[in-house]
Amino acid sequence: MATTTTRSQLSYLTDQMNQLRQKGTHFNLRVVEDAQAPECTVDGKRVINLASNNYLGLTTHPKLREAALAAIKKYGVGSGAVRTVSGTMTIHMELEEKIARFKHTEAAVVFQSGFAANAGTVSAILGKEDFIISDELNHASIIDGARLSRATIKVFRHKDVAHAEELLQSVASQPGHKLIITDGVFSMDGDIGPLPALCDLADKYGAIMMIDDAHSSGVLGSNGRGTVDHFKMHGRVDIQVGTLSKAIGALGGYVCGSKDLIDFLYHRARPFLFSTSHPPSVAATCIAAFDVLEQEPELIEKLWENTHFFKKELGALGFNIGGVTTPVSESPITPIIVGEGRLAMEFSRELFNAGVFVPGIAFPTVAEGKARLRTIMTATHTHDQLSKALEVLKNVGKRMGILS
Ligand SMILES: *Cc1c(COP(=O)(O)O)cnc(C)c1O
Repeated sequence: MATTTTRSQLSYLTDQMNQLRQKGTHFNLRVVEDAQAPECTVDGKRVINLASNNYLGLTTHPKLREAALAAIKKYGVGSGAVRTVSGTMTIHMELEEKIARFKHTEAAVVFQSGFAANAGTVSAILGKEDFIISDELNHASIIDGARLSRATIKVFRHKDVAHAEELLQSVASQPGHKLIITDGVFSMDGDIGPLPALCDLADKYGAIMMIDDAHSSGVLGSNGRGTVDHFKMHGRVDIQVGTLSKAIGALGGYVCGSKDLIDFLYHRARPFLFSTSHPPSVAATCIAAFDVLEQEPELIEKLWENTHFFKKELGALGFNIGGVTTPVSESPITPIIVGEGRLAMEFSRELFNAGVFVPGIAFPTVAEGKARLRTIMTATHTHDQLSKALEVLKNVGKRMGILS
């Protein structure tokens, strides 16, 4: 049988990829050949991994592995249907109850991914007569959910609460619902959203308050309860989204809030209704992960110790880590801003050849001229690995003229 190759109908895609090659921002996927760990084998090369959202090292935690294996033995490998048909198993309900308890909310619903949680929730709760007040750096899944909802999207300058208020005022006399939405930790700069001030705005204008805590769950707040806990805003945020794919180490997303909100999402969120639920082993893995968050707080302490060390050293080397006197980043994500997309990609390649894996990120993921490398710290990096990585960053940075 003939293999599928590009026919003339799709040749415009080839043209676009050739344009990316010319710009120097085309990439090939890097392939990790062993476990997702602080040091791993990628494309045949042993590297120090600064590229993973595996904040607490839970991807390889023994308790999570055991939980997954036990669930496979007991339940098999798949759930067989969407949640609303026969794809709700005891273990799915257990996970949702566990998350709700952990987050101190009435209820929680689990989605197949954080992306599905955001997109499915925003598009379900709003309609075309409504308004979304959204930070300009919010995650793509929020933007897609906003578009799917057909509500009017008003974008405020990054973390600019006064601008958010102007936008709210401009629609205050309109009958539609208003939703304020922000990332907890922003994924490209590592800074924290101004949650308390936004909650005040939500109260003042009667707006719904929603936060996307993908990079804050397992990282910020007591035992990693997230931004709401970090700022002591319990009870003031209507909708908390989190992911099970980053610090939790497995896969999935969730929404926490009131019983009625969750019941509504059971009935109306399209990824919940129309896409099959998690394999039982994934649900079991996540349950074990929340146990670890409660039982091993030293992981989060170690994450922050590594973060403070690495950020300080990166800044001391003279890299632009996104702030003149104090770095913008307040989380384990530390960007190294280099400007041009081509330079970021070359820097990333050279670092890789020297044994350090850090992805280059360019337009359209970040603004034109703000291309960067994004480093992420985890609890499981050793001091030795971090020192080695810093040495390589320094040497390659100097050789390429990124450091003077
Ligand atoms: C990663 C991320 C998501 C998506 O989570 P997945 O579980 O990977 O789909 C959503 N929001 C933000 C801010 C993220 O960084």
